[in-house]
Amino acid sequence: MAETEPRTETVSMDKIVSLSRRRGFVFPSSEIYGGLGSTYDYGHYGVLLKNVIREKWLRAMVQERDDIVALDSAVILHPRVWEASGHVEGFTDPLVDCRTCKLRFRADKLDEQHCGRQPSKHPGETEDCDLTEPRQFNLMFETTVGALQEEGARAYLRPETAQGIFINFKNVLQLARRRPPFGIAQIGKSFRNEITPGNFLFRVREFEQMEMEYFVRPAEADEWYRYWIDERLRWYLRYGIRESRLRVREHGPEERSHYSRATSDIEYLYPIGWSELEGVANRGDYDLTRHTDFSTTKLEYVGPEGERYVPYVIEPAVSIERIFVALLVDAYDEEVVGERERTVLRLHPQMAPVTAAVLPLIAKSDDMVGKARSLYENLRGRHRVEYDDNGAIGRRYRRQDEIGTPFAFTIDEQTLESDTVTVRDRDSLAQERLPIGGVRAWLDEALDRPWKTPKSD
Ligand code: ATP
Repeated sequence: MAETEPRTETVSMDKIVSLSRRRGFVFPSSEIYGGLGSTYDYGHYGVLLKNVIREKWLRAMVQERDDIVALDSAVILHPRVWEASGHVEGFTDPLVDCRTCKLRFRADKLDEQHCGRQPSKHPGETEDCDLTEPRQFNLMFETTVGALQEEGARAYLRPETAQGIFINFKNVLQLARRRPPFGIAQIGKSFRNEITPGNFLFRVREFEQMEMEYFVRPAEADEWYRYWIDERLRWYLRYGIRESRLRVREHGPEERSHYSRATSDIEYLYPIGWSELEGVANRGDYDLTRHTDFSTTKLEYVGPEGERYVPYVIEPAVSIERIFVALLVDAYDEEVVGERERTVLRLHPQMAPVTAAVLPLIAKSDDMVGKARSLYENLRGRHRVEYDDNGAIGRRYRRQDEIGTPFAFTIDEQTLESDTVTVRDRDSLAQERLPIGGVRAWLDEALDRPWKTPKSD
């Protein structure tokens, strides 16, 4: 992986936020009430893109393998789960308050934050800054289970999906008839009361995690740890992320979480600099042992010949949000074509929220509209396609470019004569004519072709 800084500039986060807003990918949440910091709502294309990310992750984790099964556990678990996992005691960030500007900062990330009075400086850098000593702050959101707040039991919204997997280890082991090495994959919302949220979707308080716990013989843990780092890197390359924008950074012992024997971050070069996209950790036997102690249910593997051991766990963990931002940043491009500037999302064709647009050249032509609608209806059973007859064709193309649609099929005068359509390629802008009856097969084949971004490194 590249160690050097890439040559070309990374797009600014403002441009990504503005495109996301303009094209209905992401809206600030509760906007009509003034917004709620660092929570976002997803519009149509945002939902489609999240669905694709989910689908591709599940494809690689579950569909294309036979050693990993899926799980969907509850968000609110028994409160003892979080005692056993160490989160009640240890899932904390150090925070400091500034007595001058009254803002609160993460003590270990002061260089990523801005002073309340002089935003060009970091907290603690000006003479007026008056920071308290760091205090530990638990990131879990608390809630109450039961009808009456006073009498109900205190519970937490899960800060990670992994614990739901560990507490189901025995169920899965018995019912899915697996033996190590095998994995359990889960996608679902996690909640963290982050002290320094921000940077768009990169650090939010409510996010969707995709975690897979892979249970192995202790002696093989290191090998599988390396294997999963490579597998996950390959997944990003498979879906077109530039290799020069990815790197692996291994944590030093002081940086690791309480449960970890080894951790590596797969980092992406975000507009805020190299930052964690995904984490791969060797959690050892920490979680299964702790849940065995706290619940008194033995969570171990017993082999057919009676051998028994507590498996070690290798965990690749990532959020859809961080992939979402990495995809948009990696794909965002601006270029001048003729006299005109265009913004284009050069997403991998399989990742694009809309795979193809079907456009009648003249919306007033009933014949063109009829042909276009019937092509659209033929394609939509299998692909994410969009029909659009609204406005000048140039504007419709630009709209599709901005949402990253790789192919556009246009129905024009010649279609009426020869039953052919043009297909426009988002990246090269090349146009080709195809028989209308062959579009479906052409699209299937086009999506299977290897794809590489035309963007430079
Ligand atoms: P960071 O150091 O950035 O706070 P972390 O090391 O606490 O992250 P993990 O606990 O390893 O993160 O979580 C696994 C993955 O979940 C991360 O790699 C990231 O993709 C995602 N993630 C964690 N916190 C957030 C958040 N607040 N918003 C969006 N995604 C998150």
